[in-house]
Amino acid sequence: MIQFDLHVHSIFSLCGIHTVLELLERAKAIGMKGFAVTDHGLTMGGRLNNPFFERFKSPCPEVKILKGVECNLIDETGKIDIPYIFMPFLDVVLLGAHPNTAKNLGREKYTDMLVAAIDKNPCVDIITHPNDPHYPVDYRRLAREAKARGVALELNNSKILYSRSEIKEAEVLVDACLEEGCGIAVCSDTHAIHELGTDESVRPILKAAGFPEELIVNRDEESAIAFIEGRRKNKAFSG
Ligand SMILES: [Zn+2]
Ligand SMILES: [Zn+2]
Repeated sequence: MIQFDLHVHSIFSLCGIHTVLELLERAKAIGMKGFAVTDHGLTMGGRLNNPFFERFKSPCPEVKILKGVECNLIDETGKIDIPYIFMPFLDVVLLGAHPNTAKNLGREKYTDMLVAAIDKNPCVDIITHPNDPHYPVDYRRLAREAKARGVALELNNSKILYSRSEIKEAEVLVDACLEEGCGIAVCSDTHAIHELGTDESVRPILKAAGFPEELIVNRDEESAIAFIEGRRKNKAFSG
């Protein structure tokens, strides 16, 4: 189980089906230490709202709740849909290619776009599901560029659990991170409550690769918080 899950959708995403409090109850019941609520940015219909970012505090001291967003890759200039108005409240910023990103541009182009995006937006902490088959990337190059900026690549449990990406692709991704010394965030990408904290589909891949625990940025609560706090300087207001 992931102690501190950094990629979780609530009902504030069009594709999420649970409230933050339902997620919190589940996290508490299974003994998690915390999770980040990372609903989709506005171009994917995310319903990010002021009260959650400005006023909400976890009512359960045993389970920390971080506030985040999963931004979308907009175009080749590296533009993303980061909600600048919430920047002062954001603990974690994810970035991924989703159905609103142009299709069939090829491995080189998608890699160029993601590198441009992390270059232009230092607030991005984690690139989600780089093994999405619709938006192929050069794993080695992306891992090298991510590492240079302290950004982690995600190993997404749901993509493997639901067979939305070949296991082989996740293996190549993990090997690339190993070769380049790039950090990995192991995340569930929860949309349904039983997925919270799950990593069973990707753990064997890390184990088979001999991937070192110390390169997993959320290997426990302490490392997850240290990763987030270490990157907070990048959340200075901009835009
Ligand atoms: Zn995503
Ligand atoms: Zn997601």
